[in-house]
Amino acid sequence: MTGGAGFIGSHLCDALTHSGFAVICVDNFLTGSRDNIEHLLGTENFTLIEQDANDKLAVADEVDVVFHLASPASPADYLRHPIPTLSVGSIGTLNALELARERGARFVLASTSEVYGDPHQHPQTESYWGNVNPIGPRSVYDEAKRFAEAATAAYRREYGTDTAIVRIFNTFGPRMRTDDGRAVPAFVTRALAGQPLRVSGDGHQSRSLCYVEDTVAGLLVVAASDHPGPVNLGTEDERTVLALAHLVLDLTGSAAEIEFIALPEDDPVRRRPDTTVAREVFGWVPRTAIEDGLAATVAWFTQQLAAGAAR
Ligand code: NAD
Repeated sequence: MTGGAGFIGSHLCDALTHSGFAVICVDNFLTGSRDNIEHLLGTENFTLIEQDANDKLAVADEVDVVFHLASPASPADYLRHPIPTLSVGSIGTLNALELARERGARFVLASTSEVYGDPHQHPQTESYWGNVNPIGPRSVYDEAKRFAEAATAAYRREYGTDTAIVRIFNTFGPRMRTDDGRAVPAFVTRALAGQPLRVSGDGHQSRSLCYVEDTVAGLLVVAASDHPGPVNLGTEDERTVLALAHLVLDLTGSAAEIEFIALPEDDPVRRRPDTTVAREVFGWVPRTAIEDGLAATVAWFTQQLAAGAAR
């Protein structure tokens, strides 16, 4: 797996090793952290290869599935690392595809709802081609993922590689970084610190937030099939950013205020997946209510902040 030391990747490593699979995690810690996988280091089923996925993946062991998750994922991260984001989405994807082709392994691409850009279709079905500004600041991520999808589809056509494209919508949960700029960690850490929650625009733009355990379950069922995708994974429970901020305030019991700030450039106004394919083909539905997922996330951040304060 590339990107296994990241937020979603580390949960996927947990799920796979708990089920008895051996995991080889390739990560250069650009946006991930050793802390996320510390508990797996030295265990029988887990190997860490610290390397850039843009270099040829030299894996000696047998490989059944290549999960390709390596890529900065939060807007703050990919705007901070524009060229590495383009590289890992293109060169890194070709390397991961090549490994799958050489080993006759299944390949699962962690693509994104960002391939739909600022969508003109709502909710977004997999057949929608998207509305992406190819030269805007977010294009380093959106277009890298669109290239990654094109490369994945081409390997399937050209070489018959057993590939799958999964389009992940906003996912949240424990192990998000406090400074990754995404709404949930930003809201939770500021609420816990009693600092104002910064809501961009008027807060009426929507997001559909899926709990990480559900996203991981979706990646696993797609990996276990021979379906090429693309498959949307996300929740259809759409909330406004302002409603999310209020929910975080309720769950943390914080008296922090809400502060409105400017909307970032090309920020999508609405985001909600149509998950008919995931539901009807794979029987996958998100099981975790946003309130429960947020409560678990708040508990995790509370623990992290307490541990940080004690150090
Ligand atoms: P993350 O930043 O926490 O994890 C990405 C991991 O990839 C990190 O551990 C990072 O160090 C590693 N990485 C980056 N470039 C690398 C390189 N060149 N070589 C080796 N490792 C590299 O992000 P995440 O939220 O866990 O996202 C994982 C994947 O899922 C990404 O591909 C992302 O695009 C996709 N995705 C995530 C979300 C979400 O809401 N979190 C939504 C849609 C898609």
